[in-house]
Amino acid sequence: MIKYLFELLDERGRRHLRIMLAAQAGQGVLQGVAFLFVVPLVAALMEQSGTFWWWLAAVVSAVAVHHVLLAWSTSLGYIIGTDVLTSFHERIGNHLATLPIGWFRADRTGPIGRLLGKGTMDVANIPAHLLRHVVVGVTTPVTIIAGSYLLDWRIGLAFTAGAVPCALALRLLMVVVRRNDDDYEHDIGASASRIVEYARQQPTLRAYGVLDRPELGTLEESLARQEGSQSRLTIRGAWALIAFFGTLQLVVTAVIALTVALTLDGTVALAVMAGVLIVTLRMLEPISQLGELAGHVQINADAIGRVRELLAVPSLPEPAHPAEPSGTGIELSGVRFGYDEGRTVIDGLTVTIPAGSFTAIVGPSGSGKSTLLKLIGRFFDVDEGAIRIGGRDVRELGTAGVSRLTAQVFQDVYLFEGTIADNLRMAAPGATDDDLARVARIARLDEVVERLPDGWETRVGEAGSTLSGGEKQRVSIARALLKDAPIVLLDEATAALDPANEAAVADALHELSRDRTVIVVAHRLSTVVAADRILVLDAGRITEDGDHDTLLAAGGTYARFWHERRRARGWQLIPSR
Ligand code: ADP
Ligand code: MG
Repeated sequence: MIKYLFELLDERGRRHLRIMLAAQAGQGVLQGVAFLFVVPLVAALMEQSGTFWWWLAAVVSAVAVHHVLLAWSTSLGYIIGTDVLTSFHERIGNHLATLPIGWFRADRTGPIGRLLGKGTMDVANIPAHLLRHVVVGVTTPVTIIAGSYLLDWRIGLAFTAGAVPCALALRLLMVVVRRNDDDYEHDIGASASRIVEYARQQPTLRAYGVLDRPELGTLEESLARQEGSQSRLTIRGAWALIAFFGTLQLVVTAVIALTVALTLDGTVALAVMAGVLIVTLRMLEPISQLGELAGHVQINADAIGRVRELLAVPSLPEPAHPAEPSGTGIELSGVRFGYDEGRTVIDGLTVTIPAGSFTAIVGPSGSGKSTLLKLIGRFFDVDEGAIRIGGRDVRELGTAGVSRLTAQVFQDVYLFEGTIADNLRMAAPGATDDDLARVARIARLDEVVERLPDGWETRVGEAGSTLSGGEKQRVSIARALLKDAPIVLLDEATAALDPANEAAVADALHELSRDRTVIVVAHRLSTVVAADRILVLDAGRITEDGDHDTLLAAGGTYARFWHERRRARGWQLIPSR
């Protein structure tokens, strides 16, 4: 745990941590020495010897120095804790910025949030609070054990022998907490996602009247699981703690019994016995504290592990000198890619998309269409093969280079907290009102803006979902237009749009494709018809490639897709009676 803490800190933090650890070890040793001094002190008192005052002075000085060290290391601990907090947020932030964009899936946001909040607090708590008890809880007994050999080697041996079961019981306690805390963390994360899902899916759940169907009670199940793992953590942790304290008591009793026996035997002086009894009982305190905090220590050490895991996620390598592309043609050769080991999503794909062309990709759900667009946008790097834009590998162009060349419109449009104007200006911060008006006209966003009472200043995003799905798409198409990138990657929304939106989006796409290289994952017939070329993707491979007439005549997957959509559209257009 301490090693990990060193790894995670910067140079200054490491120096502070070293000093603090030394000061804490000093405290432990001094505390142990002060306890040991009690033995001759008691002896001197009982024998009414003049050395009593010397021993008293020795104990008092040891205690005084101990307290100075305590004050010093405590303030250092807070400094380190604060450093850990700030440097963690910075390091995690910097690291997140280098990760492949594709890594940021919806299910990662919860754990990252938890890590940045509770996780870093847990880690900061280690130097600020917990470490002292660990270091002192170990160094004090070790000092006493070492010193007890000076009193009587048999007592020393008894202490040493007693330390072994205590250490084992402590280890057991930590293992029990770790296992059960892992389960608890997992279950609490799962039920948090379930709650969000449950809230989001209310319309669907209610529409289908499935609220009270026991077989769908996953939220209740996961809450019950969380409760179960929480009580397991508490109960098993408590049992392990009781076992630890029991062991400690047994060892102490054995040591005391042995000392008394040796005294009765006449081989240990009565005064020494009295001293040993006092020391043994005093020693219980730091050890008990260690035991009581062991659970916390383990839970906080687990947080370190999670921070390390996050920092270990490999970054997307960036070229030192990004290459310059010549042109905007896109070339995929032998591209292979999978999200997880062993499951190929894009399976050896080779295709050339000339500059200025309009290509539509169609294919069954899950065939890898969205993934293909993300690979071209360098959200991930390919596992095998290469993707070139303007003759240069996207890995040579770098993320920033690819981003300059491409404008992307995604399946689920995400609008940021802010006004519609803000959301557009994201793509081109210097854009004038005229620029906004121009792209709004093309994307048919102008009618939306006119209709809204606050116009361009209407707040959208998570808090204000004022826009319908089709309108949001128009915002994101306008945003892509404003960026004015030579390549447009567009993942059409799968949800059906109303006819007005459908026509508007089709017009906008048509405009967008002028003078640009456009690749669209198409779900709408209007889009497919507009394309120069259609690629049919199936299980990560291109199975058909050609224009509409050719593919329709071939009577394959594309022809089936076409007829299905036609039927679906025909359905929609029949007026309801
Ligand atoms: P399409 O867009 O054609 O429906 P996708 O490219 O979204 O297909 O997905 C292709 C396959 O990759 C699917 O099996 C999907 O489950 C899987 N997949 C998509 N995104 C991820 C991801 N972020 N992590 C793991 N698997 C994913
Ligand atoms: Mg998709």
